[in-house]
Amino acid sequence: SMLEIKNVHKSFFTYTKPRLQAGIFHRPGARKVTSELLVLRGVDLTVEKGDVVAILGPSGSGKTTLLRCLNFLETADAGQLTFDGETFDLAQASRADIARLRKKTAFVFQSYNLFRNKTALQNVTEGLIIARKMPKEQADAVGMKMLKKVGLADRADYYPRQLSGGQQQRVAIARALASDPEIIYFDEPTSALDPELTGEVLAVMRQLAEEGMTMLVVTHEMGFARNVSSKTVFMENGVVVEQAPSHEFFANPKEERTREFLRKIA
Ligand code: ADP
Repeated sequence: SMLEIKNVHKSFFTYTKPRLQAGIFHRPGARKVTSELLVLRGVDLTVEKGDVVAILGPSGSGKTTLLRCLNFLETADAGQLTFDGETFDLAQASRADIARLRKKTAFVFQSYNLFRNKTALQNVTEGLIIARKMPKEQADAVGMKMLKKVGLADRADYYPRQLSGGQQQRVAIARALASDPEIIYFDEPTSALDPELTGEVLAVMRQLAEEGMTMLVVTHEMGFARNVSSKTVFMENGVVVEQAPSHEFFANPKEERTREFLRKIA
């Protein structure tokens, strides 16, 4: 397998500052833990090269947190990730380990996360020039190739504010592609978009899938899960309830909870 994830756990804590509770806590800097939210409770997942995995589940089930833990955008409380045969501890990895892993991965955010003061092309080439020390001409050539791939070669000199949400997300995908990743993580890539702009982003993702790109996609787009993804994972309350090849998942869901979910969104 390209990617193997084992036993991922993650909680969030909510703290109340002691000064807000006068008379109860006196020790300076003392913090009172008021609640622990168990978000991931032992998630296992395997991704093969060329897989397009759709992660479905109700809001709050931990899908985004899982994806963020896999790229160390959040630190898990426990869990292992094996990528290309190298195992990482998701709870404690060195900066060097994280940097090495991220060279092989890319992340597409719900909110695009483009630099407002850079053009589409500059957004795509920034990482190549700064992080990978690629000469500018070479980076520009890669950048133009990727913008062309997402259908935006003619928008290279536009700033994000001059682009639609769908175009901005396609720039973000071009930026992800420019780093030549082995896998791309997509965190609800179309959920900030109007329905008419969702289609153009999904079309680019479908094209990448057909070209064999390995993708792990948190999504609410049932059409994408059903028709494009090779494997569908259903999460609820911080665990994987069911996972199967997508045609099987939709044609013959095994778990009652999965059937209920599919009935509701149908
Ligand atoms: P999903 O992507 O399935 O909607 P999330 O992973 O976004 O779920 O969130 C799971 C739960 O964790 C939610 O209850 C959410 O409010 C909570 N959560 C997410 N991020 C944080 C955070 N940084 N601090 C506290 N709680 C968080």
